[in-house]
Amino acid sequence: RFVSIEGGEGAGKTTVLRAVRDALALDGDEVVCTREPGGTPLAELIRGLLLDPSHEPASAETELLLMFAARAQHVHETVLPALSRGAWVISDRFTDSSYAYQGGGRGIDPQRIAALDDGFVGIEPVLTLLLDVGVDEGRARARGRGAAPDRIEAEQDAFFERVRAAFLQRASEHPARIRVIDAARPPAEVAADAVRAVSTLRTP
Ligand code: C5P
Ligand code: MG
Repeated sequence: RFVSIEGGEGAGKTTVLRAVRDALALDGDEVVCTREPGGTPLAELIRGLLLDPSHEPASAETELLLMFAARAQHVHETVLPALSRGAWVISDRFTDSSYAYQGGGRGIDPQRIAALDDGFVGIEPVLTLLLDVGVDEGRARARGRGAAPDRIEAEQDAFFERVRAAFLQRASEHPARIRVIDAARPPAEVAADAVRAVSTLRTP
């Protein structure tokens, strides 16, 4: 079973991922934790290219294509093999992030994203936990933990407001798959909600 964790900067995705992993591991199932962009050696190199500030920034289209190149590799090399052997796969970000960042944030038409999604990905999580937090709060948290100097300093508030709105739009279009979790609450409460949601997928 494939679960993704989504949200903006400083939403607490990593903390939630660990809590979900620990809860599932109690059943003795194999749990593969992965992330995007990344999740294979080649896809991690593409991530490095995307986040490297030493060259000119990628255009929106280049960013989109690199994200999908990394995702295609991730799906083929990591996600599908793990699912076929019966493991849980928990991914820190997946395709919804492209609708949010490359779509909402950078203004790419969602239909172009959907075309890449249909053409090169073809799978979606059974459950997506969307950790929703206000832009100011998220940025403050991300800065506080000394996050990489990527988007957090490079982009204006308006960018992150569009990212957040696009995530919530995705949630309203996919209400059965995407569970919105209010991530402004204390981390332990957020993690408990996430674990409860994932537990509904467990088979006795
Ligand atoms: O999730 P994490 O913070 O590690 O992601 C690294 C950066 O990649 C984020 O700051 C986010 O802005 C960016 N990103 C993106 N488009 C995606 C996924 C991530 O711009 N589809
Ligand atoms: Mg992170």
